[in-house]
Amino acid sequence: MITKDMEHEVKAFTPNRLRHMKVLVVGLARTGIAACKVLRRLGSVVKATDAKPATQLQPLVGELEDMGVAMQLGGHAIDFAQDCDLIVVSPGVPLDVPLLGWARRNGIPIISEVELGWCLSNAKFVAVTGTNGKSTTVSLIGHILRLASDKVAVGGNIGNPVSLVAFGLDSDWVVVTEVSSFQLDTCVSFKPKVAVLLNITPDHLDRYPNFDVYAASKGRIFANQLEHDVAIVNFDDPRCLTIAEGLKCNRRFFSTRCEVSQGAFVQDQSVVVRVANQERRVFSVKDLRIRGPHNLANSLAATLAAIEFDVDDNVIRKGISQFQGLEHRMEFVDRIDGVDFINDSKATNPDAVMFALEGMDKPTVLIAGGKDKGADFSILDPSVRAKVKAMVLIGAAKAKLRTMFKDCCQITEAADMEEAVKLAFELARPNGVVLLSPGCASFDMFDDFEHRGRVFKEIVRGLKERASEGLD
Ligand code: ADP
Repeated sequence: MITKDMEHEVKAFTPNRLRHMKVLVVGLARTGIAACKVLRRLGSVVKATDAKPATQLQPLVGELEDMGVAMQLGGHAIDFAQDCDLIVVSPGVPLDVPLLGWARRNGIPIISEVELGWCLSNAKFVAVTGTNGKSTTVSLIGHILRLASDKVAVGGNIGNPVSLVAFGLDSDWVVVTEVSSFQLDTCVSFKPKVAVLLNITPDHLDRYPNFDVYAASKGRIFANQLEHDVAIVNFDDPRCLTIAEGLKCNRRFFSTRCEVSQGAFVQDQSVVVRVANQERRVFSVKDLRIRGPHNLANSLAATLAAIEFDVDDNVIRKGISQFQGLEHRMEFVDRIDGVDFINDSKATNPDAVMFALEGMDKPTVLIAGGKDKGADFSILDPSVRAKVKAMVLIGAAKAKLRTMFKDCCQITEAADMEEAVKLAFELARPNGVVLLSPGCASFDMFDDFEHRGRVFKEIVRGLKERASEGLD
């Protein structure tokens, strides 16, 4: 951790130091590949390893070989790492694999790709973490800041790895990035000017020993911030508030439920910002195009972040009213014979499903299930009873969900997404909603949540075509 009296821009590794290092990249998904690319551009000696065999990593292997990256695939042998000075670990790799244990015992630093991006850039960083809402909030902040400046880069899990996005940017740039708890676990000197903590609810309990450890990991986003930096924290979330208590930087809060003394809140359907004894109305709740109470919370956080970069209120209002949300997050797909279809495939934990249901104002047929991450679905009980007419279950978590909700609503099971959508359509007639908000990971049936969402949308498109041809 960086101590208080050190310089604002302290980096654990300068580009010049990295250039002369031998770096091992562990995990060759999107961020690992990005790390290989930037490090090779810099001139470092780069090796990479992945648990998958070469046959599953084509054509990537050839590409990396062409860049001069030596590889060991199908496992992470310690021998391969013997001569390395630094390890960059991908967020998908558990920190207890033997290779990383060996590295820790031998004093070899292990950093995340976010830390690497931070070290390779002079830009100011806005970092967003939380269990849910990171991608939406990062995109919204990016959208607003870009209306005010052309020196804004957006990175993180949403597709553009932050090391590639931030590499070599000057101090007049702003990098907006989402940061997962896995990445925060291996940040060392990462020090965002503005750090946002959206919420902390149980998730990823297959990777963390308990909820407290997961929550502490989220709190690491503030670890290196100093007095002139800003922490933006959800006032409505007790875990977030506890973390905020010990912070030394400027704290701003957001709440959709009550007034806050420093931050953003809702009053008479207007969003009010109160900072440094000044109060102003920035936009009206009805300006928002993204639906649901969770998205109001995200927009309050985004507003506070934009204000830190002196963005004019009119520009913030314009950004808020233009932003249409992201694919696979409460995405309206179509209406067929009076039934609405909504794709919320990104809802991979119960909390996201709860917010999705809260926003429903018609009888809802919920398509849920997938790969269970050890989640406790009982928090959904009241929302399912209040909003869900029927559930159609898919994937490995079927039995668990059936047991949990059998007394709350009608339950049906489907073998695949096609069957699920057709059953749900019938159950939602004549004027209900089919909501895909699975509350589970997708890997038992799909490549990822995007694949799951695309399959859902294709099936809905097929139904629409059949309906318009009068076949149903
Ligand atoms: P993340 O990047 O953290 O996974 P996303 O913006 O991709 O977040 O949204 C993931 C899921 O969580 C979606 O189903 C979305 O509707 C829901 N969601 C978005 N913002 C919030 C929030 N503030 N609280 C709870 N759920 C949210």
